[in-house]
Amino acid sequence: MNLFNTLSGKKELIKKSKKPLRLFVCGLTVYDTPHIGNARTYVMFDSFVRYMRSQKYTVTYLQNITDIDDKIIDRAQRENTSWKKIAHTYEQLYHQNEKSLGITSVSTYARATDYIPEIVRQIQTLIKKGYAYQTDDGYYFDIKKFERYGQLSKRSADIAEQAVSRIDESITKHNKGDFALWKFSKEGEPSWKTPLGSGRPGWHIEDTAITEKFFGPQYDIHGGALDLKFPHHEAEIAQQEAASGKHPLVRTWMHAGFLLVNGKKMSKSLGNFISINDFLKEYHPLVFRHLVLTHHYRSPMDYTEKLVAQSTQTLASLQKFIWKVSFIQTHTKNQKQNVAVKKILTNTQKEFHNALADDFNTPQALASIFLLLTSLESHLTKISSRDALTINTTILSLLETIGISLISKSKIPASIQRLSAKRELARSYKQFMQADVLRNEIHQLGYIIDDTPWGPLVMPKNIFTK
Ligand SMILES: [Zn+2]
Repeated sequence: MNLFNTLSGKKELIKKSKKPLRLFVCGLTVYDTPHIGNARTYVMFDSFVRYMRSQKYTVTYLQNITDIDDKIIDRAQRENTSWKKIAHTYEQLYHQNEKSLGITSVSTYARATDYIPEIVRQIQTLIKKGYAYQTDDGYYFDIKKFERYGQLSKRSADIAEQAVSRIDESITKHNKGDFALWKFSKEGEPSWKTPLGSGRPGWHIEDTAITEKFFGPQYDIHGGALDLKFPHHEAEIAQQEAASGKHPLVRTWMHAGFLLVNGKKMSKSLGNFISINDFLKEYHPLVFRHLVLTHHYRSPMDYTEKLVAQSTQTLASLQKFIWKVSFIQTHTKNQKQNVAVKKILTNTQKEFHNALADDFNTPQALASIFLLLTSLESHLTKISSRDALTINTTILSLLETIGISLISKSKIPASIQRLSAKRELARSYKQFMQADVLRNEIHQLGYIIDDTPWGPLVMPKNIFTK
């Protein structure tokens, strides 16, 4: 598998090894309802890890939860409640959303506040080595002391000085771009009593304290959304490499592209904010995963109703195709193996895996599956029961590797099956009006009938919408 490394700017081979591949992905700051932008990142990494594991890579997937942060404290103060309550509420919601979206690949979640001693130790090391200094409001990292500062985002420390966001303000900092490692607590703010003084950790230090605890000072892959590249990931490199004296902190940096809504940045003030819950009220979770995977993970994704409708339709036609093939499997009288089908399937498998091995190109992999459907369509009247089984096993298992879990057989209630049998009977007596009435009745109840050469195939009508 080759992956694009943001640090080197090149695609590089990810070698298989007996040792587990250590992957860390920046988790959520739990202060608000998770939105589809968050979901894009986590669904994408879930598909990625599933795929790696299906290819016999052992992956240890670690994710942090930022449960102490200015945003959490602000919200708690606004709502007149405790920061713990806010953090707990949104952490629970995040896990519920992940479950609904089928995100199951994370090996360990690590809450920042569970690693305060590790955080303090790392800061103490940075102070001892001369990279950190104290001000009147906390401890800061001196970016000018770390030579490689800016290597990931390709900014020099001087340029980094000019473009800072979500960075900590302090009048007594040495350089404008210096970031907080430890913040002394103000009146009414949460704090931990530590040798550094009473306070709380800065945002960046939790990641490196957690990864050092689980992975050591160096590990394989660090993932996250593109907007975290600077200053967050740059700060992580500086902290850990300065503390341990080893570099690189991470071999491969993977950044997931932005999500826009109708061409605009999603925000509550623009009124285009879509929470994961909003989405799931209307659509099946697989629609979101499909939508995400039809975009290359590094490309921006523009969320529009039109694209959602396309994904819904594509999934529905995939699912219906599988049900049709499954129907053929149990109804065909054909015994002869179809050689052409076997060849088509082998080619698709190759194309699918080649696409994913090339920097996880999911749009291309999905395109190969769709092409497969078109190529197989004309062969369906000439396949055996065994061919049918092979077709479905192949398609289902390929899609499964990236978390698109379709089902081989639809469950049709007995009442619907009885109506369909009644309709067949009417048809056999050429009572076509009566047959149409029954078809409509079945339709009204949410099912459709496809009259195939092998008999009537009954399927649910709305598979991926609610
Ligand atoms: Zn992070």
